[in-house]
Amino acid sequence: MTIFATMIRTLFILTILMATLGASAQPFLHDQPIKDGTDRRVYSTIQTHVGDSYANTWNVGSAKKLSGKIYVLEVWLTRPGTSWSKTDMGTVQYKINNALAWLQRMAARYSVAVEFEKGSFHGDGGGVEMSGLPKSYDDCANQPLLLPRALKVIGYEDVIQCYNRLKEISGTDNIIVLVLINNDGWSNANQFSSLHATNHFRDYFLESVNLFRTDDGEPTNGQTIAHEILHLFGAWDMYDGQASNAASKWANQYYPNEIMLQVSSTLDDLTISPLTAWLVGLTSEYHEWYWDFIREEYK
Ligand SMILES: [Zn+2]
Repeated sequence: MTIFATMIRTLFILTILMATLGASAQPFLHDQPIKDGTDRRVYSTIQTHVGDSYANTWNVGSAKKLSGKIYVLEVWLTRPGTSWSKTDMGTVQYKINNALAWLQRMAARYSVAVEFEKGSFHGDGGGVEMSGLPKSYDDCANQPLLLPRALKVIGYEDVIQCYNRLKEISGTDNIIVLVLINNDGWSNANQFSSLHATNHFRDYFLESVNLFRTDDGEPTNGQTIAHEILHLFGAWDMYDGQASNAASKWANQYYPNEIMLQVSSTLDDLTISPLTAWLVGLTSEYHEWYWDFIREEYK
């Protein structure tokens, strides 16, 4: 072996070492406080092998768990030259408050106290003007960096600086952002997943929901808002085509009013199943048969 080859080899080993060190600099992904009937193997398999919608559980990202003090930052966006009407803003605000109150009631069923503190950027009351606002679900999918762009407009350097600042202001590390878009569209959640751990980690860490003034032509409702917020804390979709067939069947049979299964009932009629409660950190009661909900191809 020549000296040159040895140097290359040393460099190679150093690179691997540095990559390993880099990964361990994000301990929240691998240091989950899951206990009592769960173990690291279950967690990591769910996290890494069940696809993107399933890859997020509580304590991952800025939405830690549905417990204690949670800071909610609202950013009201509108296209340049337009503004939110007072009525529309008031209506959406009312629905948000309903959704947050409902989440508190769900947590109370598990004897968990939740307190929301809110902050808001709404320009002069008509919203913060921003170009290129999404007008549909597809637009949102094509604009994964909508949040960092909006944060820049309201004066933050980037996602991490904003997160740290909000943490400082609020005294909690449990933080979510609601991006309110003065367009019709289809609300969606941007939960931090294991896929983001090594890929643009900084841009996705702060977990947010995109909420439109009207949701697919209908007035935005509290149940959709609560459903999307639950995603940030780790909840899975349970409706057909999203969940594994087993999870979908289970929810349909035992928890037809589960909010991750359907949002067509009113908020008062909806509930969360023990699975959702476990996923968002309301209970540590894990059942072995949750394992059956992982799609066959990922086991
Ligand atoms: Zn969903």
